Amino acid sequence: MDRMNRAIPPSTAYLDHLVAETAGRREALTGASAGSGASSSSGAFAVGGPGAVGQAGAGLPDGGAPAAQVSAVEHAAEELEPELAEIVRRLHEDPETAFEEHRSAATLVEVLARHGVEAQLGAHGVPTAFRAEVGDAAGPTIAICAEYDALPGIGHACGHNVIAASGVGAFLALHDVMTSADAPAGRVVLLGTPAEEGHTGKEVLARNGALEGIDAAIMVHPYGLDVADQVWLGRRLLTWTFTGRPAHASAQPYMGRNALDAASLAYQAIGLLRQQMPPVDRVHATIAEGGTRPSIITERAVVHLYARSKYADTLRDLSHRLDDIAHGAARMTGTDVEITWDDGAHPSLPVRTNRALTDRWVSAQRRRGRDPLPAGVLSETLAASTDFGNFSFRIPGIHPLVQVSDPDVALHTAEFAAAAATPAAVSAAVDSTAGLASTALDYLYDAGLRAAVHDEFAEEGGPVDVETYFD
Ligand SMILES: [Zn+2]
Ligand SMILES: [Zn+2]
Repeated sequence: MDRMNRAIPPSTAYLDHLVAETAGRREALTGASAGSGASSSSGAFAVGGPGAVGQAGAGLPDGGAPAAQVSAVEHAAEELEPELAEIVRRLHEDPETAFEEHRSAATLVEVLARHGVEAQLGAHGVPTAFRAEVGDAAGPTIAICAEYDALPGIGHACGHNVIAASGVGAFLALHDVMTSADAPAGRVVLLGTPAEEGHTGKEVLARNGALEGIDAAIMVHPYGLDVADQVWLGRRLLTWTFTGRPAHASAQPYMGRNALDAASLAYQAIGLLRQQMPPVDRVHATIAEGGTRPSIITERAVVHLYARSKYADTLRDLSHRLDDIAHGAARMTGTDVEITWDDGAHPSLPVRTNRALTDRWVSAQRRRGRDPLPAGVLSETLAASTDFGNFSFRIPGIHPLVQVSDPDVALHTAEFAAAAATPAAVSAAVDSTAGLASTALDYLYDAGLRAAVHDEFAEEGGPVDVETYFD
């Protein structure tokens, strides 16, 4: 019998439209901001809407760190290129998954040690986390995050090896300035943050005190484009376990209560709910257990779900709707349901991007010859999730994207894994090293910038009690 997969290949029409729309918005920006000299570039970013970075070339803020210190970290980033290439390559060749990144963490600690930096491995109660710091804790403190976990089976298909190189590189570039006579007041902390993929390692670190005394956090993620700001959805894991009553399905079916019926009704209800959900909310589910034999009324059915939403409060609303669906399905079928949210993990919050810090990142990247796209250029329907959101609701932060691949290559594919080990990945790590270091310096040197960063954070609601947010 022919076992060929006859599933109908999806049309790429919608995806093609998205790509074309993104290219059009990008074209409108670069066409206008390149300018002919005759026209002002103001307004070029209007396409980004109110969340856009909002500054064309000359409009980016002045101030920040002294030029000599900025040049010093940019020069240091270039000097570090061989070691950044080494990190990119070594982690890529030996991928390790969440909470198992022992060799990756050891490699990064080893590179730091070469430069006389003593990092603490196993920081904040997580064996594969690490932490290093330089400067004076009495002053303002900014953290740089380095991720290094890979995906099961497909390796560094999210390019966290590039994040690791960029974070370690930025800390090393800053280390010289922070130990010089002209050092700014304050401190730089490097946080090695494991277990982003499928987990919420940063929430574990935060609950174990990793952010105590830290005022802001920055990181970068590789992608198919340079992007200053993009939507990242909050995400929660959910399990429904329906319990019924078994019975002989032919002889005494009326003596049974069917847990698979409950799971099936709940699954249908999610489909109906979708029509009434906010447009970029996502619910995806699998039925992991649905009974043992057709002749026995199913006693136990298990459904695993992810729920995602653009805002923290809409994720909470969506959670309540899903609770109602599970209870409703159980009621209709006379079964019981156990609802387990965030099973053994923690929720991921959406990313709250700090625009004042983003502006510094954009300035720094333009000096490297990159021009990150402002918010609103990429379609928000492309959104995924990251545990950096949990940091960004506690302290101001940024999570911009740096280009390592062609724009049409998606994260979590074999093609992206290949791109994460190319010369483009190394040059992204060098530019990100310079960008993160320069952004951190601006924050430490410029009191006006710090005020703007924290005013903006307060206006957006200030710190959220992430631990109890969904209770
Ligand atoms: Zn990923
Ligand atoms: Zn990632």
